[in-house]
Amino acid sequence: MKRVALILFSLFLTSLYASAEGNIILKTVVVDAGHGGKDPGAISKDGKTKEKTFTLDIAQRLEKLIKQKYPDVKVVMTRSDDRFISLDRRAQIANECSADLFISIHINSAYSTKSSGFSTHVLGQSSQKNRDLYKANLDLVKRENSVIMLDDNYNPKSAGFDPSDPSSYIFMTMMQSAHLEQSIDFAQIINENLKGGPVKVNRGVSQDPFYVLWKTTMPAVLVELGFISNPQDLAQLKKPSERQALAQRLLNAFTEYKKLYDSTTSFSSETELLHYDDPEVGPQVYYGVQIFAVSSQVHKEDSRLMGYIPEVFPSGKINKYVVATDASLDKVKEEYKKIKKRYPDSFIVKIEGSELHRVK
Ligand SMILES: [Zn+2]
Repeated sequence: MKRVALILFSLFLTSLYASAEGNIILKTVVVDAGHGGKDPGAISKDGKTKEKTFTLDIAQRLEKLIKQKYPDVKVVMTRSDDRFISLDRRAQIANECSADLFISIHINSAYSTKSSGFSTHVLGQSSQKNRDLYKANLDLVKRENSVIMLDDNYNPKSAGFDPSDPSSYIFMTMMQSAHLEQSIDFAQIINENLKGGPVKVNRGVSQDPFYVLWKTTMPAVLVELGFISNPQDLAQLKKPSERQALAQRLLNAFTEYKKLYDSTTSFSSETELLHYDDPEVGPQVYYGVQIFAVSSQVHKEDSRLMGYIPEVFPSGKINKYVVATDASLDKVKEEYKKIKKRYPDSFIVKIEGSELHRVK
């Protein structure tokens, strides 16, 4: 019994250590203005208005609003003027500054002038049939991803992606992000906040294989703020006051997400003390590496699990896969070095009963 108490006590100390280090606050956000320079993005039917102009304008308004409200949050822009930035470079900028959140701003377009509305996207492929990629968003995904061809350094082999090859999309949707759940949270919050705003029709949240979302290693969302090809949406987008209103709604979404993020992923030493007041009643605490979160089941011999036997934690519609679990945080950190090479956006979690807390 004494031995058990000692182990639990040392676990308690480790927890305190982790909590001192694991004070997780959303500190850095990347605002990505879609297109730019030689890449105009979508163009209005009269040829006068370009997507790249709207995306930069709204992104800069959002940048200003976040900086005003949160002087401590670092806002990183992928571009602040009319220049071409490759999709890889956009993701690289976000990964290099260890951003906590990535939001990519775009304007949609369609052949028919009737299509209108806003939509929010996270990486993946939806399980809902009516939101099947190849029916609903294929044109959009293809158009946004085709920017990759404008990159002088683009090579389908080294990028692991060729927008003209359907198998590239299948591969991308298999590589679900470890941050899928947070991305979906943010996407849903954005979607709620855009309702009743300058762009009327709500096209919902969907999972689609956008290259830029695939390459980023943090919760990431792409938003399409109306159709440049639709007269009503375009008329709204042309008004500075409505673009400001859209930026304000994105700020409201950011505020809501930040509150959620800051409160759910941090844990205080006070709650640790409460849990361990009586060591014999406290829940079992150990650590592991969350490699991905998927809406499907992954077979235990799937090569994506790297030979580990996973522990699966269902959370809503998503299953979180945690591998290399151990009571010793140091041991998990050692395994994490290996895992991180294959899954750059994996992270260490503290497992408490059925709850997962991210450890930084
Ligand atoms: Zn776009």
